[in-house]
Amino acid sequence: MILEFSFNYLSSSLIYEKIILRTLGNFALDYKMLRDKDELFLYVEGSDDELEAFAQKLSLELPHSIFLYATDAKIVEIMPEQEALVLDNKPKLSMPFCPKCLAEVMDESDKNYYNIFHECEVCGYDEGGESRSYKEELTEIAKEIGEGSSVSINTFYGKYLVGKLDKNCSAKEFDIISYDLGTIAKYTNATNSEIAALGAIEKPLIKLKTNVKFKMDFEDVTKELIRFKMPDDLVLHLLLCELNKLGIDLIFISKDEVANKKKFELVEQAKKQEPIEIVVGDNHLAIVSGQKGLPYENLKEDRALVPYIGAFFSVIKEHKLEEKTVAGINLSKDYHNNILIYSKKFGMIEYLSFKFNFDSIEDVFNKITASDESGKKLVENFKNSNPEHFNEIRGIVFEKQEFNVYKLWGIVAIVLGLTKEKKPFNAAKVIEENATLFLGTKGPRIDYKPKRIDSKVYLDPLMCIRTAMSFKLAKIDDLTLCFGVIESFVEFLSSVLDEIKDEMKSDAVVVTGSLLQNRGLFSKLAKEASANHKVYFNKELPIDGRNILYGGNELI
Ligand SMILES: [Zn+2]
Repeated sequence: MILEFSFNYLSSSLIYEKIILRTLGNFALDYKMLRDKDELFLYVEGSDDELEAFAQKLSLELPHSIFLYATDAKIVEIMPEQEALVLDNKPKLSMPFCPKCLAEVMDESDKNYYNIFHECEVCGYDEGGESRSYKEELTEIAKEIGEGSSVSINTFYGKYLVGKLDKNCSAKEFDIISYDLGTIAKYTNATNSEIAALGAIEKPLIKLKTNVKFKMDFEDVTKELIRFKMPDDLVLHLLLCELNKLGIDLIFISKDEVANKKKFELVEQAKKQEPIEIVVGDNHLAIVSGQKGLPYENLKEDRALVPYIGAFFSVIKEHKLEEKTVAGINLSKDYHNNILIYSKKFGMIEYLSFKFNFDSIEDVFNKITASDESGKKLVENFKNSNPEHFNEIRGIVFEKQEFNVYKLWGIVAIVLGLTKEKKPFNAAKVIEENATLFLGTKGPRIDYKPKRIDSKVYLDPLMCIRTAMSFKLAKIDDLTLCFGVIESFVEFLSSVLDEIKDEMKSDAVVVTGSLLQNRGLFSKLAKEASANHKVYFNKELPIDGRNILYGGNELI
């Protein structure tokens, strides 16, 4: 009998390929492994019993991956003719542990019990440390943490401060590591898709909303949105196992430098790498930042182009869409935003630009007043409703006068008085936060209208600000209003995509940019746009060019 296993697996890391080969090594089966774009195929031939034993073993050894979208197995008549896949000698990636390593370091009778330097051809811990049990050291670190100390440790990807999440938590900026998925589910609003992604072999960070109980437990935690992850290397995994015995299932991990901390530097000269953060919708996910475990080197060049074009092109290349007509939405927080259309025939054109210019809040009010009679009335009413606030904000002058969508939201936040921030980029955060905290399903309809200037189409920013002001006057509460600002924007994008499809017969949509890290926006856009279009996000690259090459330089 011949069995065909297929994996819709959007990763070039070779992790699955290597684990499959390693598992095949335990069996005397004829096999062939093939790749067809995003599909990985494995054909194995043998007796029914052998194949059953193999399938069972493989299911235990193959971890879930964030890049895995579907699997299937079926009986076929013949082995295919195509040439088998040859694994090139790519450098090993700094992956979290594979299931086999995990089982061995946890097995008291195994020679690799608590060995953080366990060597493995798949997940690759061969950093040259002494191969032995590190149980004693890890127990001691756990004890220190249990007694309330913050401890500096070397992981395999950099130096971090870790400690208990309590009133004495000494870190200001931190993420949370959890012993297990159940604890994350208990303290956050993580969806099933997010929980599944957190448990995947990549062990990504996901920004989650923490629930009330969590905040009561740890008074110092004032932020509602915190990044969570599972232990993503053996040092952290084994440490969390020891902490669990002391009743501690969550710790903070931070890059903050704190004086008088204890140091445990079991791993020498750790390679510094940023862990990946992802955003998860129902059927899509995207990498927000980081590079740990990602083989993106070959695509790096494209990012050297103007960031938004580079990001668009790299997704076209990643998904091999060069022959298609593709609409690209670029939604960066830092860069210019626009909708581009690419086709082999006419190259690339900018279909719609989200570029606005304002000098000051006064300028915004003046432009609304000048636009028409109802605009004039609106500003008048707005002023009268809260003259003190109106006078306070009208003097705000903007340092950088070019705006994108994110900064437009910042203006809305300032005008509505949702923040004391004066910089639109910083002010926009409150719109995102409020929208995330909103528990309903529908916000008010904020107007996003296109406007033609000469031969180009722009978004009219004044309409968005005007409708937000009207709803504020109508006393719509802030959370609902902020939800509406983001929701209506996604609905606007979705309608523009439908227009493009009608006019230009586009067959794919690519979405890039750091604004996608907003879970609400990401999952709604993925869902709305998927209804009429084939939607693609980046596979193995962060959604913005910034994280790789630009070191945080703002372009606008
Ligand atoms: Zn391994």
